[in-house]
Amino acid sequence: MPSARQLSEFALIKHIARRFGHYRAQTLVGIGDDCAVTTHNPKTIQLITTDLLIEDIHFDLRFVSYRDIGYKAMIANLSDIAAMGGVPRQFLVSIALPSSLTQGNINSLYEGMMEPARKFGAALIGGDTSASTDKLFLSITLIGEVQPAHLIKRTGLSIGDEVFVTGTLGDSQAGLRILQSTIPTKIPISSQKWLCQRHLRPSARLDAAQKLAKHKLATSMIDISDGLSGDLSHLCNSNKVGATIDLTRLPVSSNLRKYSHYANTHAHEIALHGGEDYELLFTVNPNSVSRIKRWNTQNILHATHIGTIMPQKQKLKVITQTGRTKIMPIKSFNHFPEK
Ligand code: ADP
Ligand code: MG
Repeated sequence: MPSARQLSEFALIKHIARRFGHYRAQTLVGIGDDCAVTTHNPKTIQLITTDLLIEDIHFDLRFVSYRDIGYKAMIANLSDIAAMGGVPRQFLVSIALPSSLTQGNINSLYEGMMEPARKFGAALIGGDTSASTDKLFLSITLIGEVQPAHLIKRTGLSIGDEVFVTGTLGDSQAGLRILQSTIPTKIPISSQKWLCQRHLRPSARLDAAQKLAKHKLATSMIDISDGLSGDLSHLCNSNKVGATIDLTRLPVSSNLRKYSHYANTHAHEIALHGGEDYELLFTVNPNSVSRIKRWNTQNILHATHIGTIMPQKQKLKVITQTGRTKIMPIKSFNHFPEK
């Protein structure tokens, strides 16, 4: 199989276009011209998001496959579109390739991106390709759309609104720790596998988000990429409010409970701070709580009521297992920590 360098840039782009660049109705010109040309529904507004992943900063090829990298990169972007209540439509992929990468590696990377993209209806319409000295760079730009009335922003909530989160939290962080660990553990293999999958193949909650958007139920929303504490503090800062979160209510999977038991840590700590879950954190008016709970029982949504929005002077607080209220520690990932 040829390495990336042996294939010319143009042969590579042609290959990518043929294999992955299938046209969708809204694409007038896809890969191959100076710009992609698309139409869009005049009743909708456009959402645009981009994410950059760099080898050894965001992923470690010792633990993840090229397919996993592509998959997760796409989920990160889909999750951003979900967090605004939107529908994904088209995407562009920019890659910088070290010479060691083979055509097979590149195919795997694109297969990983295409799997969730196809599932949610996003088409590859362009990108850019460069050589790289020794690390892989991958950047996806995803375009989506939403009806103006359905747009859900980070701002818009009111004091007294109730805070919900989809799915379970902390699984991805536990999965990462398992992948990185060199010490054998007693954690059941099935739990280890499940948690690692939650790290490598997270879900983007587009269905839940679109349901909330359509019914105009969420007064604000953000996706959890940094961790609940970090992303809740972003949400509260944007709205100049505080919040109180009940730690005993955090949705924790049975596999994370098993992990915490054997790893001698607290599941709710991992759920509070662990990143890359790509679940949705949203607020609703107290009148809407019963509707969300009904959707839960009807399996339309899986969302847990974890707390309440408070005035800013109350800051961010947690209610602990013993019923004490204390200031929430915030551990958010920061690429540029102060030295
Ligand atoms: P330009 O010199 O105008 O930037 P390129 O030769 O870089 O053009 O790209 C040619 C076409 O291939 C464009 O349509 C571009 O969007 C697309 N393209 C380039 N690299 C990629 C890639 N890695 N994945 C998908 N499409 C790509
Ligand atoms: Mg180019």
